[in-house]
Amino acid sequence: MKRSEFIKVLGLGAVGLMANGVFLRHGLAYDNDQIRKIKNWAWITTDLEISDDDWLRKFSVMRNAGIDAVLPEIFNSREAYYASQHLPVGGEWLERILTLAKKEGLEAHAWMWSMPCNIPEIYEKYPEWYIVNGNGESSVVKPAYVDYYKFLCPSREEVKEFIEKRVKELANYDELDGIHLDYIRLPDVIIAEALQPRYNVVQDREYPEFDYCYCEVCRSKFKEQTGIDPLELENPSQNEEWRQFRYDSVTSLVNDRLVPIAKRHGKKITAAVFPNWEAVRQQWMVWKLDAFLPMLYHNFYYGDMEWIETQTQKGVAALAGRAPLYTGLFVPELNPDELRQAVQASLNAYAAGVSLFHANALSEDHWRNLSEIMRLAPQE
Ligand SMILES: [Zn+2]
Repeated sequence: MKRSEFIKVLGLGAVGLMANGVFLRHGLAYDNDQIRKIKNWAWITTDLEISDDDWLRKFSVMRNAGIDAVLPEIFNSREAYYASQHLPVGGEWLERILTLAKKEGLEAHAWMWSMPCNIPEIYEKYPEWYIVNGNGESSVVKPAYVDYYKFLCPSREEVKEFIEKRVKELANYDELDGIHLDYIRLPDVIIAEALQPRYNVVQDREYPEFDYCYCEVCRSKFKEQTGIDPLELENPSQNEEWRQFRYDSVTSLVNDRLVPIAKRHGKKITAAVFPNWEAVRQQWMVWKLDAFLPMLYHNFYYGDMEWIETQTQKGVAALAGRAPLYTGLFVPELNPDELRQAVQASLNAYAAGVSLFHANALSEDHWRNLSEIMRLAPQE
């Protein structure tokens, strides 16, 4: 099938081809390649047990089904799975995966957790690096929801340097295509609706217990800017300037500190982001990344296929053609037919492709359905 027909199949028939080679629809401009060449990703959770031969077999299945890039999880807030010089190392896994992925013609992007840090040596030695909630409680002592919600404060210089070290180490891997930032945010002040019963919380508004960060550094930096101590505000979480300060503290870490390192080394830099970005203080649409992988995990929000399509559309519109968006899909809650529908919904909403969480959750039928829909996609 030709590209023009594929675009029709996906319901993009109304897309107009401009003389200068840019597609326009609903006032959004796209580079030719962004909209026409579909690219798909798969997150791979850490697994040191699988043999090299089995990885090669898995990668071959993925490649044939239309996956172009894999995202191996090489830092999980506790251990690094590459030869880090500054983090506890659980195994040199990235080194293996890189070689094997390249053999199968896949791009490899190192998936790293960013703000949570559950390394005892760090939280014992530097407890002041950690975020503090609106009640003055540190995430080391009283993490929100789950024990591992020990997040570092993005306003602290020592924290920025600590996270930079990881990105620098990764950027030095010649074969690596990119660095993928996960948990690049603050804790959920309101957690996804369907997860609230799981954590036994009812969040009808923003409560100080889940609202971060009120550490000395954040408060004094905000006071310098505005003359206000956020703790003296009547309802601090609803104060626009204070909200923006928190968004900006994460944005500045990304744009001013991490992106330049990746660029200097010729690496792509991407992130896994939230549809309800305000709740995690993650204003990702202003980040200078090469691509965005929003986690549109429909079941967390009581969503359906239409929700996936609407959220994809929203994200694409927010980026306004500055970078491609790949819809993140939660495969454990999608049967093979639903996966097909979810991919279709994402492409209908102008995603540049999908990212699957996670590779090991796909059955043979899932892979077959993905490969069927991708066979229609333009192949260069
Ligand atoms: Zn802080």
